[in-house]
Amino acid sequence: MTASSGSHVAVIGGGIVGLAAALEIQSSGHRVILIEPEEPGGRQAASYGNGCWLNPGAIMPISLPGLWRKVPGFLLDSTGPFVIRWRDLPRLAGWLRDFVLAGRNWNLVEACARTRFELCRTAVDEHAALAAEAGVPELIRREGVMYVYLDRSEFLAEERVWRLRREFGVAFSEVGEEELRRIQPELAPRYRFGARLDVTRCRHEDGAEFHDGQVGETARHVAPSHAHETGQQRAAKERHLAVERVRKTD
Ligand SMILES: Cc1cc2nc3c(=O)[nH]c(=O)nc-3n(C[C@H](O)[C@H](O)[C@H](O)COP(=O)(O)OP(=O)(O)OC[C@H]3O[C@@H](n4cnc5c(N)ncnc54)[C@H](O)[C@@H]3O)c2cc1C
Repeated sequence: MTASSGSHVAVIGGGIVGLAAALEIQSSGHRVILIEPEEPGGRQAASYGNGCWLNPGAIMPISLPGLWRKVPGFLLDSTGPFVIRWRDLPRLAGWLRDFVLAGRNWNLVEACARTRFELCRTAVDEHAALAAEAGVPELIRREGVMYVYLDRSEFLAEERVWRLRREFGVAFSEVGEEELRRIQPELAPRYRFGARLDVTRCRHEDGAEFHDGQVGETARHVAPSHAHETGQQRAAKERHLAVERVRKTD
């Protein structure tokens, strides 16, 4: 934050990133205006009802060496993890090329993972603090996260990815079929191997509830329905209520 104390700062976008940034900037003694055309944290935002995993082990980029070999298969499979409408392909070609090139060698992947690791490292604690401040600490549960595989050889095919995770201090343990069944009895029988992240991680079962709780509460606090003209002192005292809100439609 380079703005001098007491500056008037505009934050564009009221998803979790904008809201968290608004609170953080405000706590440094600045006045904040949140510019958001819809309800902050509303259905238009990716922050609404997402998977709700707070996983500091999610440091690996999606683009990895060899991904390009899978792209044609993705394009042909309308139920796969990566679907593009054919008519959009020409418009997306440049982005797709850059996406594949971003993971063309392991040095690039490692540099990306390092950056993501730094970004994710404190995420769980910071989300927990935000939820506590919003009065909904119970929405964050520290339960664990499991990556499942058909068998161990499928896991070993990603050995380099897991090695990188371990090098960054993301601890995990291998889970055999019997234990996997015990921990996750409802899992489809074809999955016979798992890798369990031992790091602290959080999850809330219900995305919408999580939104209404953490994101929604934060939104209500930082974005009251009427604007407040507040000074720096008041911002310090009434942290949440000191953020003004502007609905910008253009
Ligand atoms: C299906 C799905 C599942 C996901 N699961 C997970 C998960 O389990 N764990 C995880 O960590 N991440 C997950 N993510 C990613 C995560 O949801 C996003 O990274 C995160 O919500 C992004 O927050 P944001 O505040 O940057 O964006 P958003 O929440 O999208 O907020 C952006 C806001 O900016 C506003 N806006 C846009 N343009 C303008 C403009 N010009 N002027 C003013 N306002 C504007 C929008 O209205 C919106 O409210 C998931 C994403 C999706 C889509």
